[in-house]
Amino acid sequence: MSVSTIAAPASWTAADGAALYGIDRWGEPYFSVNDRGHVMVQPRAERGGSLDLVELVRELQGRDLSLPLLIRFDDILEDRLERLHAAFDRAIAQYGYDGRYQGVFPVKCNQQRHVVDQLVESGRRWHFGLEAGSKAELLIALSLLDDPEALLICNGTKDQRYIETAILARQLGRQPVVVIEQADEVERIITASRELGAAPLIGIRAKLSIRSTGRWSSSVGERAKFGLSVPDLLATVEALRQANLLGELRLLHFHVGSQINDIAVLKDALQEAGQIYVELTRLGAPMGYMDVGGGLGIDYDGSRTASAASTNYSLQNYANDVVATVQECCLPHGVAVPTLVSESGRALASHFSVLVFDVLGSDALPQAVPPALGNEALIIRNLRETYRQITAIPLETLAGSELAASGDEPSPLERLQEAWNDAIKFKDDALAAFRLGYLSLPERGLAEQLTWASCQAIAERLAQLPPGLNVPEELQQLPAVLASTYYANLSVFRSAPDTWAIDQLFPVLPIQRLHEAPQRLGSFADLTCDSDGKIARFIDRGQHKPLLELHPLRAGEPYWIGLFLGGAYQEVMGNLHNLFGSTNAVHIRLPEGGRYTVDHVVRGDTNAEVLEAMEHDPPRLLERLRVASEAAIGRGSLKISDARRLMAHLETSLRQTTYLQG
Ligand SMILES: *Cc1c(COP(=O)(O)O)cnc(C)c1O
Repeated sequence: MSVSTIAAPASWTAADGAALYGIDRWGEPYFSVNDRGHVMVQPRAERGGSLDLVELVRELQGRDLSLPLLIRFDDILEDRLERLHAAFDRAIAQYGYDGRYQGVFPVKCNQQRHVVDQLVESGRRWHFGLEAGSKAELLIALSLLDDPEALLICNGTKDQRYIETAILARQLGRQPVVVIEQADEVERIITASRELGAAPLIGIRAKLSIRSTGRWSSSVGERAKFGLSVPDLLATVEALRQANLLGELRLLHFHVGSQINDIAVLKDALQEAGQIYVELTRLGAPMGYMDVGGGLGIDYDGSRTASAASTNYSLQNYANDVVATVQECCLPHGVAVPTLVSESGRALASHFSVLVFDVLGSDALPQAVPPALGNEALIIRNLRETYRQITAIPLETLAGSELAASGDEPSPLERLQEAWNDAIKFKDDALAAFRLGYLSLPERGLAEQLTWASCQAIAERLAQLPPGLNVPEELQQLPAVLASTYYANLSVFRSAPDTWAIDQLFPVLPIQRLHEAPQRLGSFADLTCDSDGKIARFIDRGQHKPLLELHPLRAGEPYWIGLFLGGAYQEVMGNLHNLFGSTNAVHIRLPEGGRYTVDHVVRGDTNAEVLEAMEHDPPRLLERLRVASEAAIGRGSLKISDARRLMAHLETSLRQTTYLQG
């Protein structure tokens, strides 16, 4: 627990807030904190312009867009695309690579129409393409990608119709590359080509023998689900040759798995794939493209380590390694270097969307000290005295307190330890006395309140002690014991499923009050009736922690939490657990030197829509309830005015989103 590193509340500034939540590490260059303690967004990065996220949410609420709200900053998406291309351009220039880079976006990462549209539009100047992994994604890619020079990589398991569609798309003027992922696909390609009298561009996915680390390590290696082993690869080349299709074999593909944490894994994969590429040209395939797949990682915690939520390389390191390694493989063999293709999804789409949700309340333990009544029981008086002794130690003096006690005086730490022992003993006494009937229920309540107040006062003081003190284990646990649950207007299963399914870490933090020292530790519980519906793992520089520093809620004042870097996969993988549907979403643009514009509003699912998704019929549901309320009116158990109110609530609920209305 890093409580002892929190600055003293009095001197806390917005910079401390930025440091605590790591915004200055993972947020660069898009997110920062202003003097008012609000998260700021710089959608255009270094090109200038910024938005106060709190103000933005307030104004969006004014437009009747209630929380939880997914805010997509299309400028960030465009900026990521530019950075990716700039990195490859730099690497190509630096190594004198005699080829170019031409990437594609894997549609599975975020299939939302506005997102794919935006990527195609922004990517036009580089002929940036799309990657499809299923028939439905192929339909998206075919209809949205109209640039004849952009690549359309067709991955996934393919039936005859998928393959024929790709072949016909080539005649439509597109550039589909059908990637053979499984040994039996080659026969289907040959049949389809024969029938149509035309062939697609063909790619081949190699199953690399390297061992990856991390969560997606099973995406590679001999037992991987996709890709051809060396014997299959050779047989496929022969089959294509026999069918007179070897002249269409243009691309070698591999994919190491998502979020490569360690660059060494990528280097090994590149070397192996590079050699296979050279061999394929020797076997007579024209080739021309090397597709290094996805896997370019995101530094979720800003620690720059090979840990699960981070990467030990930058975007530039990645591009350099791809360019240099492929070149090293080709040059000695006199093979022309290929056009480099990557399928980076996570790296492009993570930053641009921010999920903002509100906190509905918290279960904080009672903190206030109740006023003393006359003739209180001895146990209560003892607890009051303990509390008084703790609070008699002034907070300000602790930071400079010496390790050792001076003279005969006990050190502040020793005094806190002693007070803790007393508080626990008196609390146990109170419980025993209650069981024996010597203490009333209100008195027992009082004892508990005083104990918690004492614990809180001890924890506050411990947090001020200088680092390096040998704090006893039980006192170190105190902040966790005092932790609060913050109730979030959110479904984790809908909006951040990876936090539940694969323990993915995202930066999560309040978007306001960052100039105020957070005095609580807590975690989030969502709206679902599922005990897994929580966020209780937070980034911690290469590690993770179970509790997040948070602020006490203030009556009548919203407390908004942002979940950052969740633009990839979360929406797609989200589900309807407890029938919580999609949230409202907006697309924001920040024109140069101007005010932001709301480009698209995508309303979240209504209750009627999620019911229909489960084959229910909302008008029928209403009608049955109307009949039931008529019967109740007839029996005299429901007033007509109340029946009307009930029906109005039901009708309104059907039209509204599935989340709680503020
Ligand atoms: C999922 C996937 C990708 C995208 O991976 P990211 O880690 O998001 O970049 C690319 N290619 C293939 C074949 C995939 O299955």
